[in-house]
Amino acid sequence: MKYKIIVFGCGFNQIDAERAAAVLEKIGYQSTEKDFETDLFLVLACSVRQSAIDRVMGLEHRFNQIKKTRPIITLLSGCVLPTDKSKMSKFFDIVFPINDLVKLPVMLAQKSLDLPTDYLKVRPSYRSTFQASVPVINGCNNFCTYCAVPYVRGREKSRKAKDVLAECQALVAQGYKYIELLGQNVNSYQDGRINFPKLLKQVDNIPGDYWLSFASCHPKDMSDELIAVMGKAKHLIPYLNLPLQAGDNEVIQRMNRNYMVSHYKNLIRKIRKAVPGIAVSTDMIVGFPGETRTQFNNTAKLMKEVEFDMAFLARYSPRPGTAAAKLVDDVKPAEKKRREEALNKILKQTALKKNQVFVGQNIEALVTEYRHGFCFGRTKHFKNIKFKSEVDLTGQLVLVKVTSCYSWGLRGELPKVVVILGTTSAGKTSLAVKLARKFKGEIISADSRQVYTGMDIGTGKDLEEYGKIPHHLIDAELPKNQYTLAQWQQGANAAVKDVLQRQKLPIVCGGTGLYISALVDGYQLAQASEDKQLRNRLARLTLKQLLARLKKVDPKTYEVIDRQNRRRVQRALEIYYQTGITKSQQAKPQKPPYQFLKLGITFPKEVLKARIAKRLKHRLEKEGMIEEIKKLHQQGVSYQRLEEFGLEYRWVGRYLRKQLSYEEMYNNLEKAINDFAKRQMTWFKRDQEIEWVSDYQQAERKIRKFLSDKG
Ligand code: SF4
Repeated sequence: MKYKIIVFGCGFNQIDAERAAAVLEKIGYQSTEKDFETDLFLVLACSVRQSAIDRVMGLEHRFNQIKKTRPIITLLSGCVLPTDKSKMSKFFDIVFPINDLVKLPVMLAQKSLDLPTDYLKVRPSYRSTFQASVPVINGCNNFCTYCAVPYVRGREKSRKAKDVLAECQALVAQGYKYIELLGQNVNSYQDGRINFPKLLKQVDNIPGDYWLSFASCHPKDMSDELIAVMGKAKHLIPYLNLPLQAGDNEVIQRMNRNYMVSHYKNLIRKIRKAVPGIAVSTDMIVGFPGETRTQFNNTAKLMKEVEFDMAFLARYSPRPGTAAAKLVDDVKPAEKKRREEALNKILKQTALKKNQVFVGQNIEALVTEYRHGFCFGRTKHFKNIKFKSEVDLTGQLVLVKVTSCYSWGLRGELPKVVVILGTTSAGKTSLAVKLARKFKGEIISADSRQVYTGMDIGTGKDLEEYGKIPHHLIDAELPKNQYTLAQWQQGANAAVKDVLQRQKLPIVCGGTGLYISALVDGYQLAQASEDKQLRNRLARLTLKQLLARLKKVDPKTYEVIDRQNRRRVQRALEIYYQTGITKSQQAKPQKPPYQFLKLGITFPKEVLKARIAKRLKHRLEKEGMIEEIKKLHQQGVSYQRLEEFGLEYRWVGRYLRKQLSYEEMYNNLEKAINDFAKRQMTWFKRDQEIEWVSDYQQAERKIRKFLSDKG
């Protein structure tokens, strides 16, 4: 048995559809989109506009055609005015108020189910896996004279705050990226002492990576308390729909909206002050009974003045049973059309002006669709955006660089990130710093040892060289603690996002190929949590014993791992013992949503060898590298730990333990650095995407081209 739900109207009908789907699924129906296999049609009607009613009436023919071939059940609910109900009852088997949704199984002669009495408490079957609307209040007490909602949905009924909160918490826990709190008049919410600003604050306090918004608002209920919460919220997106309906006080009064134009303008001023850069949209009705040309011109004037980002324009149509339906609908259809077009013309200009602000900026967007190599979605200012992507990013919050705009949306591309890589002593930092100065960049270190404090000379941090260039992932942890690759990957992703959000160019700089790949290729690293007992147990084993175990459980990792690096070997085993997944079995990489340019610095072998020799001599004889390592040991970094850091720290550590003479240490270290450089080059040479450069000019040219190429 299959069901299909046809939804007309607003977001609240979508919410109802998700709850109706859950009830139908409980009694054994399955969802379908295809008419020919549907056994049960449920239509959720909208009585707000005549056009929506006409579309419901248009279903009669469709249903009759199907009924000629096989039996189907047709149900009608949602917002249905009594006058429309009598016409529609003719071709629907059952018409029921949405509040009776929980009685649907009985209506369909199925057994009674254990459902909550309030249909909003039914656990919905969400249509999307990443965005959801959560009802907070249903119905309306305002009786705007043109509106059918109070008649079809009844008076306002707020949900319990704890139910709203629980639904939102569950959505965030399931990874939902966008939650919209919904009600016909959301800001008159009240559950005991909890009003809407308090509820909003509670939802906003749910930790996680998600967006939050709310609709619909009534200007008369837009309190200073709510504006203050908006100004401080962490998850609330900078977008608000604040329906104005008309920009003339007399018309507003006749609509029974209970505010003045001056109040609305004052609200906009306060909201824009509290949330700088907020995008504001509105709803407008043209041709309301008695709207004179002068009154319409006042609306047009106000639209120009407020400069909306978007407006949802409607030509007035009377809804039977409402107060306005008793007024003479005296504005001719052609005049209504003219007025709508006039407002649309103003909107086109203000929307374009507002959108132009974003060109050149990196802004966060939620991808909602992927078609023919393009992602479609909305930015956090609720602007439509389209950008090219090789990967389907649907359901993800990503940064997009806006490249152009038009009145109704933006075009963009995935943001660009530069990577400077190369062997030790290749001069990566100098090059990266120079490039950062040129291209307004910030440097993100991709070096497994520069993350540790106090390890400056041995890791070539060259902090002085950075000058005022901001840098990331340097000095992030104490050397006696572990800073894993997974931690670095997380930190690097956060740093890239942070730099881009500040409209700067991220320049990732380092020689640790594994780290660069973890970021650029998006390795899915198993996140094994800290297990002290396991760590201590493994710490008691010798390196040989650890390697024997690793060879047995994960021969692939055993082949490629640095077998001298006890920390890495132990970590690979920890991951396996804790997650049951070996390092080599970790999930398929997921490319991050950026465009990368990888620039490698290369020199002839002999030149590099000479640079390594010169640098080592300088570090040992001029910079005080031995003193640095001695100091680290005095500060509690064990010799075993120094061994794990390899190269300078391993060999100087052995010298400090008097296991080697100075000369032996020097020679061994020089050889180890040269071998390390060879291993680095072997790793990098496998990567066909690296563009090799040997001087600053080449690097600058390549970056300039990369940044100007349309992605
Ligand atoms: Fe209708 Fe007015 Fe209530 Fe909005 S506030 S739902 S327009 S009666």
